[in-house]
Amino acid sequence: MAILAPTQEEVIAMHQSHAKFFQERSNAGIDHIVRHEGEHDGPHVAIFGGIHGNERGGVEASVEVMRAIEESRLKIAKGSVSFILGNPEAYLQNMRFLDENLNRTFIEGPQRDNIEGNRSREIMHYMWQIRDDLAAVMDLHSVSVGDMQAVVYNNAKHFPEWLPPIYDFYMRYSRRHIAGMLPDLTSRYDVSGFLIEAGNHQSNEAVFRSLFHIRELFKEFGIETVGEMPYGQELDEKVIREAPSVHYKTIAQIDPSKGFRFSRDVETHMKLNAGEVFAHNDDGEIVAPQDCIIVMPDANPNPNDSDAGFLCVEVAA
Ligand SMILES: [Zn+2]
Repeated sequence: MAILAPTQEEVIAMHQSHAKFFQERSNAGIDHIVRHEGEHDGPHVAIFGGIHGNERGGVEASVEVMRAIEESRLKIAKGSVSFILGNPEAYLQNMRFLDENLNRTFIEGPQRDNIEGNRSREIMHYMWQIRDDLAAVMDLHSVSVGDMQAVVYNNAKHFPEWLPPIYDFYMRYSRRHIAGMLPDLTSRYDVSGFLIEAGNHQSNEAVFRSLFHIRELFKEFGIETVGEMPYGQELDEKVIREAPSVHYKTIAQIDPSKGFRFSRDVETHMKLNAGEVFAHNDDGEIVAPQDCIIVMPDANPNPNDSDAGFLCVEVAA
């Protein structure tokens, strides 16, 4: 698939316009959160984009939907939707994060006093306020290597089995391996929460796929709309496809600190044998602790990030 690669300046300009769009419409008492109320009461869903500031798809898709509502091409007839720009400060700079990975900060207990810690407190405060009428939380992401689509979730009870089988893989993570992701917060409220990886950071397809997922979320959770979602039926043609449904569960995250580097080109689905060297750091070789599979590797990880990808094993659906 051809991946359009806009220049860094073009990307930053798009990000600035999206962030401004959110900022100017913030109406929930917290910056960069926009709540749309339907004509009739109904379920409430929350849609996150830009939890990682270098992931445009979910943010742009949210802006497209809000624009369609403002221009009366689309109307919410029943229910309400919160659109949340996850990490505005990192988004303005097209950076994954500035101080720490926001998607590891949704923990119980005190947050750090830094940009992501402060944003995490704001988001958790908002989620606390709306928890009782919240039906589902969808967190839209994209990936750095390849153009893959995936579902990430932490709790079999909240596995979004209603999504069409179009994903390269599903990953169930354990809080023992990856703590502080958004579904940890939603599962504390017993609300369905999951992440979608909608393709590559630079792929325009990630925008279409994010729109598709917003439409599917509305359908599943009873957000009734009148009019057409942006790109309407085109979304199905662009997004629906057959994909092998591989199910993984995490056994560890890959630590990116101490001069970490992969020893070779890596990509999702790459198999490792127990004891096989796959990376190095300042302490020496890093070996696979058991037969396992690399999932969502970051070829150039930030040493301050929480992970450079994950080690998983395949499990039954
Ligand atoms: Zn992400």
